[in-house]
Amino acid sequence: MLIVMQSKATPEQVQSICERIESFGFRAHPIEGTQHFAVAVTGDLRGIETCGLEEMPGVQEIVRISKPYKLAGRESKPENTVVRFANSDVTIGGDEFAIIAGPCSVESREQTLHIAEKVAASGARFFRGGAYKPRTSPYAFQGMGVEGLKILAEARERTGMLIVTEAVDIEALEAIEDYADMIQIGARNMQNFSLLKRAGRSPLPVLLKRGLSATLEELLMSAEYIMSEGNRNVVLCERGIRTFADHSRNTLDLSVIPAVHKLSHLPILSDPSHGTGKRDRVTPLALASAAVGADGLIVEVHHDPERALSDGPQSMFPEQFANMVSQLRGILPVVKRTLSTEPLKPRPAATQAACK
Ligand code: PEP
Ligand code: MN
Repeated sequence: MLIVMQSKATPEQVQSICERIESFGFRAHPIEGTQHFAVAVTGDLRGIETCGLEEMPGVQEIVRISKPYKLAGRESKPENTVVRFANSDVTIGGDEFAIIAGPCSVESREQTLHIAEKVAASGARFFRGGAYKPRTSPYAFQGMGVEGLKILAEARERTGMLIVTEAVDIEALEAIEDYADMIQIGARNMQNFSLLKRAGRSPLPVLLKRGLSATLEELLMSAEYIMSEGNRNVVLCERGIRTFADHSRNTLDLSVIPAVHKLSHLPILSDPSHGTGKRDRVTPLALASAAVGADGLIVEVHHDPERALSDGPQSMFPEQFANMVSQLRGILPVVKRTLSTEPLKPRPAATQAACK
């Protein structure tokens, strides 16, 4: 349910509405729009009609939200969400096209810092690298854990890029909060509801990857889990789904990108690395992703992919990444997106970016 406030409603009136909602055991989510302020109400809404909200001062109208994703859908917030990071001008979902690049896994300090310097020099604003890895085999490399997070924090200090890294469970998420700028929830964990709820209580923005066989509605319901706990800074990611096609690792479902934009105000990135599994397909699908309206990309880059401890075949060489970025610069003006050429400034320690 959405309580649309009159344009002249005062902050005190909004506050009393929120208090009334919470006093009946529902949850209030104030939403600032360009025209109106609104308050979304979530919870088991049986009995809400008797709470007298409609008569309260400042209320213009009460609107039922028809979709099951109340906070993630456009019905409650028509304007696009722009995710901002504290201590940084970098955004996701605004005019600027976001580029997240880096190795699949943090393997060593040398490997990570080397790749970080390369991708930062070619235009990445965010650095990725898994310190906790969800692997099909329990015998495969599982990640460096907290040591890996410390290396990522050093990469931020040196290059100024914001750090995105995956939480495979709540313990990893809590460690990541001390070192990184954005929490990645991987495809395999898209419906790990306790992890989603914990991410919803984090001050850090969340990158939520689509599950291997998840529908668009399931993806938006997972975003809803995070948002219903209070964290509105959710970025979705299409990373390929399982189909009968055997010419690529997954099928990158580019049609989901305009579908997300229609139903949701949340930004959506594309991951052509996991989406294809082959490095020579990454640039063509990255360009296509930009053309269909993706808000950015997450791609894997490795200087020695033959020896990578995970996802070598889909990791681009740094030169391929640089070339992809320069081709993107050709396409982005057509879709009215920008890509800054400003060099990043190194970031001193302890300026990691909780959302503003
Ligand atoms: C990754 O980003 O390295 C990863 C494991 O991604 P996904 O969850 O999409 O498989
Ligand atoms: Mn990977």
